[in-house]
Amino acid sequence: MTRPILATIHSAALSHNYRLAKICAPHSLAFAVIKANGYGHGLLPVARALASADGFALLEIEQAVRLREEGFAQPILLLEGVFSPDELPVSADFGLHVAVHSPEQVQWLEQAALSRPLTVCLKLNTGMNRLGFVVEEAREWAQRLQACPNVAGVVLMAHFATADEPDKGIDWQYRRFCDAVTGLELPVCLANSAAIIDYPATHGDWVRPGIMLYGSSPFADRSASELGLQPAMTLSSRIIGEQQLAVGASVGYGMTFCSDRPMRIGTVACGYADGYPRHAPTGTPVVVCGQRTRLLGRVSMDMLAVDLTNIPTAAVGSPVELWGSQLPIDEVAAAAGTISYELMCAVASRVPVVVD
Ligand SMILES: *Cc1c(COP(=O)(O)O)cnc(C)c1O
Repeated sequence: MTRPILATIHSAALSHNYRLAKICAPHSLAFAVIKANGYGHGLLPVARALASADGFALLEIEQAVRLREEGFAQPILLLEGVFSPDELPVSADFGLHVAVHSPEQVQWLEQAALSRPLTVCLKLNTGMNRLGFVVEEAREWAQRLQACPNVAGVVLMAHFATADEPDKGIDWQYRRFCDAVTGLELPVCLANSAAIIDYPATHGDWVRPGIMLYGSSPFADRSASELGLQPAMTLSSRIIGEQQLAVGASVGYGMTFCSDRPMRIGTVACGYADGYPRHAPTGTPVVVCGQRTRLLGRVSMDMLAVDLTNIPTAAVGSPVELWGSQLPIDEVAAAAGTISYELMCAVASRVPVVVD
């Protein structure tokens, strides 16, 4: 028998969640965001589940080329554009869309010799202050790009910093964007998952759903199931050991958990080297034999401990779900003081993946 840890990718959930994004933004095309190896779900499993997506968006040109070689013909957007001028001819040969966020990237485009012109997404900084041109300069940069023979078309792109925080909202960025681009008559690409769900006015020509495709809620105050999303990954394992604790016995490194009564605990084949968060504290939910219980003590590299005291049927070999169909990843992330994005992306390469 092999080590029992497993990540199961649910293709039907991915396509369901994509359909939901399209229902939320019925008049827009959608770039399914599959950066970071499909948020840890695997580039090709996700792309295949979303084969009919209007487009894909990711970072590395090698992954974009991989998708073309696998036969994906829809627009593929490099979200950060090219990292060096030599990526431009490759982008042209494979018909990729490229973001353009810096004067250097504009110069590279102007100086390149390409097999065909590219569609570019002009990335505008509306207040996130990460990448992009100051939005008030949109007109000048758009004109310069439109005058470049290597440019087939310009799409205006910006990103919201607080679409997932209803008390902050996006008005402060969206107004700045609208004021700066009025009259430009160019296609627009703005909304991430949170804006797709909460801000229909921002949808424009293209939207960029990411986290919602994977069945996690972008919001702290609404669950994925309330939003109609289905989990796209189940991380599961099994109990591989069992211990009886006397009163006052401790569990794991650092003795951070001590029992105040006799307990039965199980050791699960999953640790931080599998991508499970080491900072998840005692009390983090775990499902054993379909029943909710809690993590105990510190997560080790290859193992973690769970409370089996109230699950008498649990024994060595019993199924454990760390997150997935029975346990929303958002609850595990909240308990560990992080967000689902980080947990998904951290699933380690040693964890076998099956696609259902
Ligand atoms: C990651 C990313 C998205 C997707 O965001 P979600 O919150 O996962 O929906 C959209 N646009 C850009 C530029 C991104 O980097």
